[in-house]
Amino acid sequence: MSIEIIKSKCVGCGLCIPVCVYDAIKLIDKIAVIDLDKCTLCGACVEACNFDAIILTKEEKKDKDISDYSGILVVGEFRHGEVHHVTYELVSKARKLAGKLDDVNVSCLIMGTDMPEDSLEKIITAGADKVIKIDNPELKFFNDEVFSKLVTEVLINEKPEIVLTGATSEGRALIPLVAVSLRTGLTADCTGLDIDPEKKLLLQTRPAFGGNIMATIICPNHRPQIATVRPKVMKIILDSNRKGEIIEKKDIKVSRKLTEILETVKDESTHVNVADADIVVSGGRGVGGPKNFELIEKLADLLKAAVGASRAAVDSDWITYSHQVGQTGKTVAPKLYIACGISGAVQHQVGMRSSDFIIAINKDSSAPIFDIADIGIVGDLFEVIPELIKLIEKN
Ligand SMILES: Cc1cc2nc3c(=O)[nH]c(=O)nc-3n(C[C@H](O)[C@H](O)[C@H](O)COP(=O)(O)OP(=O)(O)OC[C@H]3O[C@@H](n4cnc5c(N)ncnc54)[C@H](O)[C@@H]3O)c2cc1C
Repeated sequence: MSIEIIKSKCVGCGLCIPVCVYDAIKLIDKIAVIDLDKCTLCGACVEACNFDAIILTKEEKKDKDISDYSGILVVGEFRHGEVHHVTYELVSKARKLAGKLDDVNVSCLIMGTDMPEDSLEKIITAGADKVIKIDNPELKFFNDEVFSKLVTEVLINEKPEIVLTGATSEGRALIPLVAVSLRTGLTADCTGLDIDPEKKLLLQTRPAFGGNIMATIICPNHRPQIATVRPKVMKIILDSNRKGEIIEKKDIKVSRKLTEILETVKDESTHVNVADADIVVSGGRGVGGPKNFELIEKLADLLKAAVGASRAAVDSDWITYSHQVGQTGKTVAPKLYIACGISGAVQHQVGMRSSDFIIAINKDSSAPIFDIADIGIVGDLFEVIPELIKLIEKN
């Protein structure tokens, strides 16, 4: 693609300047001039121009040479003074995938300020051969514009065939900008990743069509193949014998920001953090009403657990959305997950099936939740839970 200003049509109105988020357009002698080093050919200026003075030309599609891309790069996340656990999860997964790609290199890019060395070394323990760190006071707060430019620059230099990042608020803001800049595909919220044994392509599995099917998506013609995965979907595997290197990138320039973040404040409005709990007791439509959730809460309190819920319970206004587990709620991976009166629809399962141990209580013996439960109790939850509570209180 190429972009051109038709000088005879440009009236120098300047409408194209504010719409260019890349600061690529200037008026010189009352004519718009595009800095092609900054321009990403996004076309925003073409739409803004009322005089058809900007032309974006699509050239004939040529097959891209993807042969010199190799290895897997995880775009890590450093937040509130620590490396986010999704970084370790994805590096561990990348290590496994690398094994299926003739042991290619796994690297991890991490950006922030005052990043402690031991948490970077843990990235190596989780499976990285190389940690690329960009430690700069300008990177104290996340800024999608600045971070996406840095990631893009590193990816252009490193040329990994696969890029993984967390489907966190930061990852979701950053990686689409990177994918667009690199003109490649992106599969968001993957629940499974694998390698095609013959074609060596990344198989990116995620729920599709409202969660009714699981689709496996490939990106055969463009590089890198980019996927995001929610926290707690993949497991962290640490190997203290692993060796790797930490490389600091000092030569990279942090670009000018259009927005300045002065402070970030933690949201203390919700006490539940179902995503981080070691034990989750969840209730579904089978709980039957908001008052009955007290039984779920009692069991959760005794076990020092967080309370989770299915979407049916949340949609019925029995409990707030912050408790919802599943495709459109939180992904959890506790040591113990107790599903009470939950049928186990695929959209619920994608949010909890990585739990270490699952107990399901349901009066319908054919409920799908029993397919993934380690212990299935076929019975009425209003009889089973009080018995469990009695047993726990006795001990
Ligand atoms: C795009 C999309 C996204 C979605 N996202 C989510 C999501 O994030 N999370 C989610 O949970 N769902 C989600 N859903 C909804 C999902 O498809 C199911 O409808 C929902 O999970 C069902 O909730 P449930 O299991 O509580 O209810 P039901 O499917 O109605 O199951 C209730 C279960 O309770 C049992 N039961 C009833 N009474 C008792 C009793 N006294 N004792 C024991 N068992 C009893 C029944 O046998 C039944 O199995 C989504 C759906 C779509 C289309």
